[in-house]
Amino acid sequence: MSIQTQLKYNPITTEGSSGTVKRIAIFGSTGSIGTQSLEVIAAHLDKFSVEILTAHTNHELLIAQALAFRPKYVVITDEKKYVLIKEALSGTNTKVLAGEQGLIDAASYSGYDIMLAAIVGYAGLKPTLKAIESGKTIALANKETLVVAGDIIMQKAKDYKVKIIPVDSEHSAIFQCLVGEESNPIEKIILTASGGPFLGRKPNFLVNVKRDHALQHPNWTMGAKITIDSATLMNKGLEMIEAKWLFDLEPEQIQVVIHPQSIIHSMVQFQDGSIKAQMGLPDMKLPIHYAFTYPKRVTTNFPRYDFKKPNTLTFEEPDVKTFRNLTLAKEALNKGGNMPCILNAANEIAVFAFLKNRVGFLDITEMVERTMEKVPFIEHPTLDEYYYSDGEARVFAASLIEM
Ligand code: NAD
Ligand code: MG
Repeated sequence: MSIQTQLKYNPITTEGSSGTVKRIAIFGSTGSIGTQSLEVIAAHLDKFSVEILTAHTNHELLIAQALAFRPKYVVITDEKKYVLIKEALSGTNTKVLAGEQGLIDAASYSGYDIMLAAIVGYAGLKPTLKAIESGKTIALANKETLVVAGDIIMQKAKDYKVKIIPVDSEHSAIFQCLVGEESNPIEKIILTASGGPFLGRKPNFLVNVKRDHALQHPNWTMGAKITIDSATLMNKGLEMIEAKWLFDLEPEQIQVVIHPQSIIHSMVQFQDGSIKAQMGLPDMKLPIHYAFTYPKRVTTNFPRYDFKKPNTLTFEEPDVKTFRNLTLAKEALNKGGNMPCILNAANEIAVFAFLKNRVGFLDITEMVERTMEKVPFIEHPTLDEYYYSDGEARVFAASLIEM
């Protein structure tokens, strides 16, 4: 795909925006969420400006994005690409930073209001933490941050009076259902799951599943890691843990229901038995847009759900015997401490190995389970202990790849 096609709009600059714009930093701008967020911004240049863009390796897209939006900073974590980007942006006012330290330095820059945390995986944790300590509003796509160290993140957000606005569609749905309900306790939340491409399949089928088949999601186009997590149902497990922290819930208040059409994005049940649902077509631009415009709703031209067309919305129980990742994630949720961090690290290693065709689809669950049994449990970890547990879990999970 050409860079221009990937950008999906004509290059434009945000120079000349008025002082009332929300200044946005997009961490992970070259990914699925990152590129969609730039489409959202491009449609509302009177309301938003782009101050920071970051990428891991895709320097060509990062350069094209920087030339289009003229941010104050770009960061490339792959330091080998630094010179290429520096040269390409030499005629602009954009400063180029590199490496993990570059991400941390950019996160603490004073000239932005909202960080869109759209880096995938554990790598998103440290810059997000830095943005919270710098008092920035967080539009949170990166669920792994809360899975790894949810207690520390939420406490820091409280200490620094920082708002965390979820971008994950289910959590955005719940967040939207809770507007105006501040004094009404939640009885439970119902997280909807599409079930992924292997809904209804059994282990005898899954054992032979290959990367390319698992990457075909029926309803959403997303980055590779979350697409595999959706196929194994680990994504929903991570989302249960994410929901616990975002909405201060007990594990038994979180229910998962399979809803293959992905029209109801999630629901909240209140103490009087009333259930509120947030609905819409499956399009991540909507929760991204809402996180940027919150608490307002601003007109968009996104396609609308049409009740005049024949539609059937269905719901069923997840098959947790086949998709055991959901059971493992529930175990981690119940156990707490560093267990979700261990689960997440092992899963990242296992999914990466599956994407490289080094392990089978069912091995992902096996690797996560064995790592959870192996790495020492810590009930109340410090931040350093989370970092350490993450490292230990990665080393152990990687040692299972040759099994
Ligand atoms: P992606 O793989 O498409 O993009 C990831 C981005 O992170 C890229 O910009 C990449 O350059 C950057 N990145 C990757 N590894 C990095 C590293 N080690 N250091 C720094 N940057 C790194 O992923 P995505 O699908 O856009 O998902 C991003 C996050 O949003 C994930 O946490 C995912 O769970 C969450 N999320 C995504 C969707 C979706 O529809 N894609 C929906 C809900 C939640
Ligand atoms: Mg989701």
